[in-house]
Amino acid sequence: MNKKNLFISIITAFIVLEILSISIMDSITPWAILHYHSIGLKIIGWYLIAQIGLSFLAMIFISALPDRPCPICNHDLKAFIPVYGSLVICPRCRSMFHKNCFKSKLRCPICYPEDEEKPDVLLDFRRD
Ligand SMILES: [Zn+2]
Ligand SMILES: [Zn+2]
Repeated sequence: MNKKNLFISIITAFIVLEILSISIMDSITPWAILHYHSIGLKIIGWYLIAQIGLSFLAMIFISALPDRPCPICNHDLKAFIPVYGSLVICPRCRSMFHKNCFKSKLRCPICYPEDEEKPDVLLDFRRD
């Protein structure tokens, strides 16, 4: 999911709507297809409009995200969403991570730093 792909999907959906409207409804208004009596075409029309709307929202969401690296994998949060999954926010420290990175750690590495995770079973063997 990146800005360029979202932009292409908006344009594609818009062009398809436009072509359908011009060829079937003889109208340059892209949503004219929604007034057509065929339920199939209405569904396609609504689907394309939903695609435009959702892509647009996703674009705004992506633009609003900060350019920060993920504290777990150290890759850019936005750029690596296709690789490491969507973003999750730790409810305690409000840090952002990739979903898959966060899952692999089981808990937030900022609230619970690595060195606190000592395997306590081994400690008993040290007494001699
Ligand atoms: Zn990550
Ligand atoms: Zn946290």
